[in-house]
Amino acid sequence: MGAKRYKYAILFRTIFVFRGFVYNEFIQKEDIIHIFLKRKRKTATCPNCGRRTNLTTEYYKRTVKDLNIGILECYITFHQNKVHCKCGFRGHEKLSFVRPYSRCTIRYEQFVFSLCPKMSLSDVSSITNLDWKTIKEIDIHYTMEMIVPLRDLNPKSIGIDEIAYEKGHKYLTIVRNADLNEVIWIGIDRKENTLDGFFNELGVEKSSKIKLAVMDMWDPYIASVKNHCLNAEIIFDKFHVVKAVNKALDDVRKKEFAKADEEQRIDMKRKRFVILRRKKNLSPNQIETLDDMMRENDTLYRAYLLKEHIADIFDEEDESESLRRFNDWKQNVIDTGLKPFLGCLKTITNYFYGIENYFKHKITNAGSEGINTKINIIKRRAYGRAYGYSDLNYFMLKIYQACGVVR
Ligand SMILES: [Zn+2]
Repeated sequence: MGAKRYKYAILFRTIFVFRGFVYNEFIQKEDIIHIFLKRKRKTATCPNCGRRTNLTTEYYKRTVKDLNIGILECYITFHQNKVHCKCGFRGHEKLSFVRPYSRCTIRYEQFVFSLCPKMSLSDVSSITNLDWKTIKEIDIHYTMEMIVPLRDLNPKSIGIDEIAYEKGHKYLTIVRNADLNEVIWIGIDRKENTLDGFFNELGVEKSSKIKLAVMDMWDPYIASVKNHCLNAEIIFDKFHVVKAVNKALDDVRKKEFAKADEEQRIDMKRKRFVILRRKKNLSPNQIETLDDMMRENDTLYRAYLLKEHIADIFDEEDESESLRRFNDWKQNVIDTGLKPFLGCLKTITNYFYGIENYFKHKITNAGSEGINTKINIIKRRAYGRAYGYSDLNYFMLKIYQACGVVR
């Protein structure tokens, strides 16, 4: 036993550094190893002032989980003493390797935390042998330490977006730093005062330094930005505009569909996707299908050209050329007289200032696509009702963890 114990002592000193303690004894039972620590000095650190201070005779015995040793699950047992410090503090001493009331060492918690962004709480639980509530508490604690708060950020361009977090029109407003594509703020709902919350937190001075705001044609956001960012140019996301035009095209298709006979209907249904997709992304076969369809239906053909035309204009690099072609497009819409497109044109005309700014700056909310993908993964993992709980704050924290600004 003596030699074996000596070997473990060396192992312990090199790998297991628990400041203020030395290795005393271990017990191994099947696949669990239990290590007992012994205090080195008669003083301890005060958690309030950081001074070394005398111990009292009161202590409590703690056993916490530590990193596995090979295939052995490892637990550490030690005495945590109470101190009476000159600063007036009375309570438990500060230890460098474990947080108060935690069931694991800090390095085990950090291991647990390293798994949390990658998998669900139940997956982490099956790896670490901890219950999901403990894991969630660890995840929250270390994520909070990692997130850079809004007061330390200076965004110059922002992207504003909404995501549905639950069925029944429940939304979050997500604000990104559009230059770095990082989530810098999340608010519950998508009202004007939701976004006001962001600007209030950011402060008047920093809000006035925002130069660009990319967003959808959503009036509550527009109002909030106009009230708070006096120097910002508003840009409407081109995907949002193209989406509106696609919808007009689909409305035309539906009208033509209603007029068609049974055989034509089956055909139109089958070919729906080729008219909504950009022509440049179609295969030669699909282009043939498209051409057939267009030959058969003149109205649909004209609607289709309007859709392709606008998408081309948004791809145009030159600002004045974009504007010139855009005016052509407007005239074409009026000439064709297709009602869904006239409705769409009205919207676009009302919000034209933000489209003009798009032609000038060519910034889109494309970055939010990647973020939305990440958020959907989190939603499935961490926010599912599979756990029998739902915690919006935790969900928001997980978004910051995956897409926010972290140290
Ligand atoms: Zn003290």
